Amino acid sequence: PKYVYDFTEGNKDLKDLLGGKGANLAEMTNLGLPVPPGFTITAEACRHYLRHGGMPEGLGDEIGSHLAALEARMGRRLGEADDPLLVSVRSGAKFSMPGMMETVLNIGLNDQSVLGLAKQAGNERFAWDSYRRLIQMFGKTVLGIDGEHFEDALDELKGDRHDTDLEASDLQRLVETFKGIVRREAGREFPSDPREQMDLAVAAVFASWNAPRAVLYRRQERIPAGLGTAVNVVAMVFGNLGDDSGTGVAFTRDPGSGRQGVYGDYLQNAQGEDVVAGIRNTVPLQELETIDPASYRELLDIMATLERHYRDLCDIEFTIERGKLWMLQTRVGKRTPEAAFCIASQLVDEGLIDLDEAVERVTGDQLAQLMFPRFSGTADNRRLTTGMNASPGAAVGKAVFSSERAVELAGRGEDVILVRRETNPDDLSGMIAARGVLTSRGGKTSHAAVVARGMGKTCVCGAEELDVDPHERRFTAPGGITVEEGDVISIDGGTGAVYLGEVPVAPSPVAQYFEGRSVDGELVAAVDRLMTHADSVRRLAVRANADTPEDAARARRFGAQGIGLCRTEHMFLGERRRLVEDLILASTPRERQTALDALEPLQTDDFTGLFAAMEGLPVTIRLIDPPLHEFLPDLTDLAVRVALAADGASARDRRLLEAVRRLHEENPMLGLRGVRLGLAVPGLFAMQVRAIAAAARRAADPRAEIMIPLVGAVQELEIVREEAVRILAEAGVSALIGTMIEVPRAALTAGRIAGAAQFFSFGTNDLTQMTWGFSRDDVESSFFGKYLDLGVFGVSPFESIDREGVGRLMRIAVEEGRRARPDLKLGICGEHGGDPDSVHFCHDIGLDYVSCSPFRIPVARLEAGRAAL
Ligand code: ADP
Ligand code: MG
Ligand code: MG
Repeated sequence: PKYVYDFTEGNKDLKDLLGGKGANLAEMTNLGLPVPPGFTITAEACRHYLRHGGMPEGLGDEIGSHLAALEARMGRRLGEADDPLLVSVRSGAKFSMPGMMETVLNIGLNDQSVLGLAKQAGNERFAWDSYRRLIQMFGKTVLGIDGEHFEDALDELKGDRHDTDLEASDLQRLVETFKGIVRREAGREFPSDPREQMDLAVAAVFASWNAPRAVLYRRQERIPAGLGTAVNVVAMVFGNLGDDSGTGVAFTRDPGSGRQGVYGDYLQNAQGEDVVAGIRNTVPLQELETIDPASYRELLDIMATLERHYRDLCDIEFTIERGKLWMLQTRVGKRTPEAAFCIASQLVDEGLIDLDEAVERVTGDQLAQLMFPRFSGTADNRRLTTGMNASPGAAVGKAVFSSERAVELAGRGEDVILVRRETNPDDLSGMIAARGVLTSRGGKTSHAAVVARGMGKTCVCGAEELDVDPHERRFTAPGGITVEEGDVISIDGGTGAVYLGEVPVAPSPVAQYFEGRSVDGELVAAVDRLMTHADSVRRLAVRANADTPEDAARARRFGAQGIGLCRTEHMFLGERRRLVEDLILASTPRERQTALDALEPLQTDDFTGLFAAMEGLPVTIRLIDPPLHEFLPDLTDLAVRVALAADGASARDRRLLEAVRRLHEENPMLGLRGVRLGLAVPGLFAMQVRAIAAAARRAADPRAEIMIPLVGAVQELEIVREEAVRILAEAGVSALIGTMIEVPRAALTAGRIAGAAQFFSFGTNDLTQMTWGFSRDDVESSFFGKYLDLGVFGVSPFESIDREGVGRLMRIAVEEGRRARPDLKLGICGEHGGDPDSVHFCHDIGLDYVSCSPFRIPVARLEAGRAAL
């Protein structure tokens, strides 16, 4: 294969082969922009090098002929004694990995060519400075010498002087010192042969792909480990030749806000690396207008050309050598979520892109970030620690250490932050009451994180430096600072920072817009425009997971087209727990009926509220799902209570204890729950269906869909269905009856199950844990971190649908279900319904809708639109 491409041979679409930097240098070259000539060695050569520990056959010659062509063009030879060509050797992978890999400048200098360079430039100081930079960068990057050796030597030489005060003779002496460091630390001479310098640098750049920091960065950014990096060899231009030279970076628009204008920094008399290294203070790019007006105007022209050509915000690196402008790099620039929306909309106005493309340019993740409030100031001096940024937003409140206290204080109108070691389902009420949640254990997929994200609540989790003591109601932070219950803290779910005291918060205009308030500003106008377009192109409907009329109403404001999951068990918590206990304790059919009769009117009211909030839209109600013991007291607590009371224990407590023991299960998630419970406890499902029917009769335009959980065999569904159909007929109410697909067996027998179901809704939380055979509640804190590190999966399958395994079961169920019943309605109601990647998958396999928590609805709408484009 061809391993080396001249800049005139490439283009911007060859990033796989040439890396981002190489592809864009080629693109600029072909646009006729002033790019120093050069060539790119492909990432394929790098992959060969990494696999075999050496360069591919023939690469040396191929580089040789491209170098010869470069030399011919420049009229100078690499490292030639009286007028040397110098080059830079620059890394550049497909995805930008800022600062992760290496670049060596000024290759071609040695004891002879440094004199030639000095003579040609008429500047000795510059030549010796370039030479010492080469030895320093080469020593660090190629020979693996600790950079501090060079920096210490430079500092010692400088003393109190500025680096610009160093004379040629100082720098000449420094070169000798640096060569000594190389000899001492690397056990070899600094190579004086220019071609050897270049070849060693190329190999070092290849090898830097696997440097530990690069490996870590790729893992975090989910960049595949096997891509490798390309290497660019570029003729050097010099920004350090005097005050008529310099170097800078610029954006074609403000990457923070999207506003158009001149954004950048410039540094006179410097080489590119100095800007980033912050050695001297840069000046705002506008000042170049007075320093060098001709170059400034040319630069603005080029920026306009690049924007028109890439039809997007670009960032650039440039250098001016004695009044001549050179472009050294460009790429489509990174930007904040706010800028992403504003720029996409501006580009539509400018006629550079259409609305379809504008919607493709923004993401659900960006939208989600815009919906959270933020801290408006900084408070670094009050930072206690930084945990994991589990669910964005800014929350301020009094620290509380139990759900009961959270509910109590919030009930009095106070803002609280719930602080726990970790949370469990019992903390739900406290999490709802709190402004934010802080835990010292657990990762981004821990209970606290998942639930908080679903609720749109700020959460910092896994703040391991905090020692949380729920009994003493306090935590201790590094430095021995103790926070007691009632002390105010602030948590930033976007960064994971935890602060002592109150940090000021600004509300999110985007969230206010979705709430239906009228909000001004460019950002909200852009969001409105792109959302409207996404809605007009999407095929997937978006529903909400909502259990209360308040949630349902909010979901509707956010654009929900129905409820995809109402979890009825949430209606049995709190004060109603006692009624459920009565049901469990019932020992005769009569007692059981009494208990059910007490629950039925309460359930009827629940559903009435939902139908009213969702008038005219479908409401999917799932019959009771979790194991019964979740409604009973904790076994240990109760046993202790009974033991302490001894003979004084109430009869009810004794019976309860017996029931708790009887219902105890080793694997409750695989035990008596869902449809199994409905079949085992006669009358329970019937009561719920009667309540749905009664509520439907009261409602103006009810669209009830009754959903049976945890079905694995069509027979289970048929039995429940028969009874439900009878109850509905008696009440004269019509409703769809369908099932969740969350047991692998249901997916595999979907054709038969569709015979008894009018709709399927994929419960991908259970389907994922049953397909993989691991329990969500346990694995995330035990081995998931390890699995992510090992690359068993790139992202938790509870966060994003595992297309290969779980997704395959879904495809089977869709295909066989539709074959058996062409008008089968298909949806998803697991946590994945609000995950961007999973929304795309649901679109691809032809579902009718996704259902997610109210706060994720705008995200799902946007991603459903993007999936359809
Ligand atoms: P990174 O990817 O870390 O930005 P680069 O390859 O862009 O690394 O190079 C680092 C710095 O060196 C940049 O500021 C760039 O402008 C400068 N540089 C690279 N090649 C040349 C060259 N041929 N002439 C002048 N400066 C260069
Ligand atoms: Mg760069
Ligand atoms: Mg389930």
